[in-house]
Amino acid sequence: MNTNDFEILLESILTENNLQMHLRKDSLSKLTLFYRKLIEVNAHTNLTAITEPGEIVLKHFADCIILADIIPQNAVLIDVGCGGGFPSIPLAIARPDLKITALDSTAKKISFVKSVAELIGLYNVDTVCARAEEYAQTKRESFDACVSRAVARLNILAELCLPLIKKNGMFCAMKSISAAEELEESKPATDKLGGIFKKSMNYELKHNNERVNRTILIFEKVGKTPGQYPRKFNQIKKNPL
Ligand code: SAM
Repeated sequence: MNTNDFEILLESILTENNLQMHLRKDSLSKLTLFYRKLIEVNAHTNLTAITEPGEIVLKHFADCIILADIIPQNAVLIDVGCGGGFPSIPLAIARPDLKITALDSTAKKISFVKSVAELIGLYNVDTVCARAEEYAQTKRESFDACVSRAVARLNILAELCLPLIKKNGMFCAMKSISAAEELEESKPATDKLGGIFKKSMNYELKHNNERVNRTILIFEKVGKTPGQYPRKFNQIKKNPL
């Protein structure tokens, strides 16, 4: 699909989902550059299973831009397990006031996200190649907000994310159909790690006949994470809190 057709499709899907207010003058061209680079690199490096333009806009771009309504102004935010740049890149385009650290343990994914941020001129995105549980050793309780999409079940994800968040900060876990079950299952973990569940935001994304239902589970960091967490990943996985 050529650049012009993609921009038209992008604008129409974002408008259909009431997300057009997050489009600045240059947002469409920035998202289009991201799309082109994603498709180009995805041909030889596995970044996403979704390749059809309408699906990329709906399931990746719109799904990430939803966060723009939730994150506080000027927040210092970390995206744990950003993969090919979701949600960090669309969120950074929609919210230039945020200072975003895109973190992933896979070097080729981080190198892709870094190259996209440079290509688009996203000065509010830093990239870090590290495991979240190891990064917390030096960046403990440093972020106002943490977001994470499609990385791990919530009882595991909570131990990767909550230690990185400051007191009174926010944790957004982007989930699909298993959200309610994961929320229930993770209560002991979030309690121990200093998090409290605030609310769940359910939303439906639509385009033509397609409907996609998603949930963002929103937590507040109300207390410090005890020093023994996060543990090493094999312990987190083998014995979730
Ligand atoms: N968030 C992206 C998205 O929604 O498309 C990527 C999701 S991908 C399924 C999961 C990503 O999490 C992978 O890129 C993987 O390398 C990363 N990951 C898994 N465990 C991690 C950890 N402990 N620390 C940092 N990254 C991690």
